[in-house]
Amino acid sequence: MKVTIGHLYPDLFNLYGDSGNVQCMKKRLVWRGMEAEVLPLGAGEEIDFGKLDILVWGGGSDRGQALAVDYLNRIQPDFKQYVEDGGVVLAVCGAFQLLGKYYKAGEEIIKGLDILDIYTERCDQRLVGNIVLESPLSDTPVVGFENHAGRTVIGDCTPFGKVLYGRGNTGDGGYEGVVYKNVIGTYLHGPLLPKNPQICDWFLKKALERRYGGDAALTELSDEPELRANRNMVKRLGCDKK
Ligand code: GLN
Repeated sequence: MKVTIGHLYPDLFNLYGDSGNVQCMKKRLVWRGMEAEVLPLGAGEEIDFGKLDILVWGGGSDRGQALAVDYLNRIQPDFKQYVEDGGVVLAVCGAFQLLGKYYKAGEEIIKGLDILDIYTERCDQRLVGNIVLESPLSDTPVVGFENHAGRTVIGDCTPFGKVLYGRGNTGDGGYEGVVYKNVIGTYLHGPLLPKNPQICDWFLKKALERRYGGDAALTELSDEPELRANRNMVKRLGCDKK
């Protein structure tokens, strides 16, 4: 079985090691004897969404986000169709914001893809630091690092998790990210997936089910070092007692 992972705009969107999420997905497929192809999708490139099983899109600065608007405009209909058809997407921070309606950065309004019913506005105070979530998608807490000036209002959308430590979507709302169909939008860098192997496997399972149907079981991996790293952060931040 083969999984094709598109890495969207790696030149403009790759903050805090977010491309490590692509490596993590690839490794966990290869360790299970599957094939993984990574397609870097550069700004301005034509994208054949039909080829993709997973799309990974990392965080970006306000400047990178503004530079991407024209390119995003061009791929919007195909991107939206891919999501509505169950296409798998991980969008981190600046990318999460751009899946929504808009990101208002001071006077500038950066148009989003309008795929998620969310919007973001920049505030003076950045939210920076470690973050821990409780998410229905993982038995262990989800750990990461956030660094954003944007506050994201998700309305009736389903959050990715409840904030146990850190700030999340709005800083004080208690929730983080969005899950919609097979999309996770989140503020968690880290990169997110190496220390949260169940979240990585959530993406892989969704992608395999979509492409290969019921035959797509994932074999167990030991995850010993990954879970040790996860537990270490959970403990360090006092979330083991919550
Ligand atoms: N520019 C956005 C913000 O600061 C996104 C930053 C990021 O991707 N880390 O809110």
